[in-house]
Amino acid sequence: MTTTEKRRQKLRRLVNKANVDGILVTNFTNVTYLTGFSGDDSFLLVTRDKDILLSDPRYTEQLQEECPGLELAIRGPGVKMASFLAKVIRESKAKQLAIESLSMSVAMWNFLKETLSAIELAPTEGLVEQLREIKDKSEIVAIRGAVDIAQRAFSVIRASLRDGQPEKQVAHAIEQQIRWFGGSGCSFPPIVAVGPRAALPHAVPGDQEIGDSDFVLIDWGAQQNLYMSDLTRILVTGRISPKLERIYGVVLKAQQAAIEAVRPGAVMHDVDSAARNVIAEAGYGKRFGHSLGHGFGLEIHEGPRLAQNEYRPLKAGMVITIEPGIYLPGWGGVRIEDDLLVTRDGCEVLTTVPKELVDCVIG
Ligand code: ZN
Ligand code: ZN
Repeated sequence: MTTTEKRRQKLRRLVNKANVDGILVTNFTNVTYLTGFSGDDSFLLVTRDKDILLSDPRYTEQLQEECPGLELAIRGPGVKMASFLAKVIRESKAKQLAIESLSMSVAMWNFLKETLSAIELAPTEGLVEQLREIKDKSEIVAIRGAVDIAQRAFSVIRASLRDGQPEKQVAHAIEQQIRWFGGSGCSFPPIVAVGPRAALPHAVPGDQEIGDSDFVLIDWGAQQNLYMSDLTRILVTGRISPKLERIYGVVLKAQQAAIEAVRPGAVMHDVDSAARNVIAEAGYGKRFGHSLGHGFGLEIHEGPRLAQNEYRPLKAGMVITIEPGIYLPGWGGVRIEDDLLVTRDGCEVLTTVPKELVDCVIG
């Protein structure tokens, strides 16, 4: 059985448990996960005894390459996807069909409700996403590759960073290096934020220049074989002020406390607290406004979320970021982000870019 067949088999079990005959997968990333098809505009119908990928003629060749053996239904030119979908669903003889309520448009829902009045459509949330939270071997290999490319790109950037370079140019160079090392691109537009700009957790690179402040925050990741990586480091291009030293020390301590708490069975809330408590005790509790981390894989943000309101346990095979930060408006921000694999007896930190403050000094 291929990896994607195994995934569809697992989905079929969840679908059976939900007391429906099948599921219509409309989230394109979920379709990719279940079939290996990397294009979009295509849907997957999984019933008790069949898997059918619905697509259009643009993709016929790519489909044969990426998912050989999968049953295809290719709509003809001039046939609307919605009516084609209704026809294939009717022919599948499913009586109750789960739909993905987070991705189906209201227009599609209304159309299918009207056209397939004899079929019960059951809105569901997160059936495929729940499978995607636990990475299989091939996914972990791809993520390791994406981490490796991101890290190689960073070491080149680090070595070539010069005062006077605008943030935008550094962001461009990161993307260029990622592609040079074989990545298909960035996993998200890199954040390059000099000094006070780093107080914005999602700063967009602008015209600020390296050297305008003592340090720069870089948050970047690579994509390779559809999978992603996500890291953040501070680089010190000026002097280490006592304030930077203090705040960096708190964030690093918080991150290390959280990493030590990561193991299967650990409650996500508690891992978030492990970091949050260190930051709060140092008096910066209000300056850490986001959650501690997130899962990633085919998407840069996917389940699980490491946050105060998440009481689920971590499981072996989850791949997550741990990224505490302290943000002080007018001064700047410090965030340190690493990628972790939850293993059977703890965790493996996949990212290895040095992060002691002395390691972050350029010069
Ligand atoms: Zn990041
Ligand atoms: Zn992140």
